[in-house]
Amino acid sequence: MRNSATHHRDLRTGQSIWSAKRRPAIAIKRLTRTVRCDVAVVGAGISGALIAEGLSEAGLSVVILDRRGPLLGSTPASTAMLQYELDTPLCQMAERIGRDRAERIWRRSRLAVDALRERTERLGIRADTATRGSIYLDGNVLDASGLAEEADARRRAGFEVELIPPAVVKERYGIGGRHAIIGFGNYSADPRKLAAGYLNIALARGARLYAPVEVCAVDAGDGGVTLETASGPQVRADQVVMASGYEMLKGIPRLGNTIISSWSIATAPQPRNLWPTEAMIWEASDPYLYIRTTPRGEVICGGEDEEIADADERDARIDAKTRTLTRKLGRLLPMIDPTPVHAWAGSFGNSPVGTPTIGRIPKMPNCYAAMGYGGNGITFSMMAAQMLRGLITGKGDPDSDLVSFHRDF
Ligand SMILES: Cc1cc2nc3c(=O)[nH]c(=O)nc-3n(C[C@H](O)[C@H](O)[C@H](O)COP(=O)(O)OP(=O)(O)OC[C@H]3O[C@@H](n4cnc5c(N)ncnc54)[C@H](O)[C@@H]3O)c2cc1C
Repeated sequence: MRNSATHHRDLRTGQSIWSAKRRPAIAIKRLTRTVRCDVAVVGAGISGALIAEGLSEAGLSVVILDRRGPLLGSTPASTAMLQYELDTPLCQMAERIGRDRAERIWRRSRLAVDALRERTERLGIRADTATRGSIYLDGNVLDASGLAEEADARRRAGFEVELIPPAVVKERYGIGGRHAIIGFGNYSADPRKLAAGYLNIALARGARLYAPVEVCAVDAGDGGVTLETASGPQVRADQVVMASGYEMLKGIPRLGNTIISSWSIATAPQPRNLWPTEAMIWEASDPYLYIRTTPRGEVICGGEDEEIADADERDARIDAKTRTLTRKLGRLLPMIDPTPVHAWAGSFGNSPVGTPTIGRIPKMPNCYAAMGYGGNGITFSMMAAQMLRGLITGKGDPDSDLVSFHRDF
């Protein structure tokens, strides 16, 4: 086989709560001859789906390519807490990159989650979605006074938050001994159904999805881009978007992005045991724990991230990590049964400030990337869809400097 343009990774192991269900149907084509289009999108996960749908709505002809097939990369491993609240607290991000830029990223993240919810509803995509608040607990990254500082930083940036002491956290949610910031308006979904919904809408507008197609080389020029594929036929496009997830384009500037590992579990449905409001729970801790429910009342819990890039090492820890997550989940939420019926592991991204990289790839004319995702991956996929639509159609985007390859953080 010819070399690939992107790195190869074993992205996930085990059966996620979504993979246990039937895979949504998506019409794929075989690439048997050279094809042309306005924009070629490499990757048919949630990023490629959102980007392709947005570009097809803008009237562009779109071709989507995937080496595995749609929804077979990282997307089915996601716990899909679609939060505007970023993993890096606003007060800490402000110290690292300045208050103005930190506030802009946080606000843009809020807009991305709102837009994802509004668009998903407007397009009639059924993806077991829910709008949920959040309970952000103190931990070893932000203690009680750090949490108060974070609440002030968020209020100042215009976000609605509530800071509550342990007695109120206990009374309201049954969680003992922790301070919390309460947030509002996050979103959750079945990530496979969500991505399939967006892909199918793009296809209904005339986009074409070819798979399996291994993109081996990207020959970029001022007049357009040619993608060489392992099976021979080329894809010729005016512009190309690399939405290849944690399998990044080789030779691309990484801006400090690294690959780490994350583990997750899901319980059986238990709608009667759940905490009031079913708000998403997460911690200002490292490693952290995060918890959400599904519309059927299953509890999903993830975290315990470690700086492990090797898939064998990641998988060797599934049993131990499952036990740790189960124990921590049961201890935090005594009202639920934490016994897992699904356990899985996935590769995950990390970046110095927790921000993604979205925009024109340096020294590759007409090529764009959407990459460098961490815990807010799907929020950033939506941000990428909005920004790349603006850049590709020539309208621009007022926040693209915050995530471009040329930023200085
Ligand atoms: C365990 C876990 C929990 C997570 N939890 C959350 C969460 O709660 N909230 C959140 O927002 N995010 C979360 N994330 C992150 C989020 O899931 C990812 O950021 C997102 O799924 C990435 O989607 P993608 O489309 O960019 O990548 P992928 O889904 O991996 O799709 C990329 C596709 O590109 C294809 N590809 C790569 N190279 C080539 C090539 N050379 N030729 C052709 N095709 C190629 C691959 O086959 C793949 O299908 C989590 C991730 C993991 C692993």
